[in-house]
Parts: sequence; structure tokens; C-alpha cells
Amino acid sequence: MTATNHALTGACIGLSLGNPWLALPTAFVSHFVLDAIPHFGFKGRKTDAEWLPDKRLRVMLAVEALCCFAIVLLLFLAKPHAWFLAAVCAFVAASPDLYSLPRFLYYNKLTKNEVKWNAFRRFHQAIQHESVWGAAVEVAWFFGVLTILATKI
Ligand SMILES: [Zn+2]
Repeated sequence: MTATNHALTGACIGLSLGNPWLALPTAFVSHFVLDAIPHFGFKGRKTDAEWLPDKRLRVMLAVEALCCFAIVLLLFLAKPHAWFLAAVCAFVAASPDLYSLPRFLYYNKLTKNEVKWNAFRRFHQAIQHESVWGAAVEVAWFFGVLTILATKI
């Protein structure tokens, strides 16, 4: 799923559970549960070499970074109970995708260090179900978690 949906889900988990020992692992696991749900991706399954240098992806990543910042800013300004835990959970829930950063840098020719495909990367890739039509799932999920978040702020 998009980083925005991962972060919103993590924030909801943090606000709902309130306990870092429960919320942080749950937020981390939520990333893989959401990735296993059919979701948005450009042109379905493609190789990294084809889709990572795609300009649309770079634009989408910039928008996503702004949305994630806005989520944390909203939590900071509203300061609901356990807001800081919710902000950390938002980061933790989205963080497994940061492990893709070396691939992004390599295929965009920003580094010459080729990425090794370890068990984690293969697992993360294998659970993805991406398609353009998955955008409908993303939109539904976005408004669902946003509604839940609104009840907690
Ligand atoms: Zn992911």
C-alpha cells in the first residue's frame, strides 16, 4: 500500500492501543498485512529495473513524503492521548518500505552499489499484489482509517 495508508494505519494503531509494547510490533506487522491486500502499483508486477526509474514513482514518493509529514504534524498539533506513540507507530508502519531505498537509488543511477536480494526483500516482494485498479482499495482504505483517526483526535 501507499506510505500514506501505512502511516495512517500505524497512527490509528498507536492511538487505539496506547501501549508501546503492543502498538509498535502491531504497527510493524500491519505493514505486511496491508501489503498483502491488493493495492495500487504502476502497471502491475514489473522488474525493479523497469519501474524504479519511473518519473511517476518519484512524484508519488514526494507526495507520499508530504502526506506522512502532514499526518505527524496533525498528531503534533492536535495532541490526542498517546499522540507521540501514534507518530512513532506511523513511522514504524511505513518503515519496511525504507528498505527499498537502496534499490531506488541503484535503479535511478544515484549509487553504483547493486542491491542483494535477501530473504526479507524476497518476502516483501512476494506478498505484493499491485495493479492500477488497486487504487480503489487505497482510496477506500484511506477514508476508512482517516475516519477512525478523526474519532480519536
Ligand atoms: Zn511494503
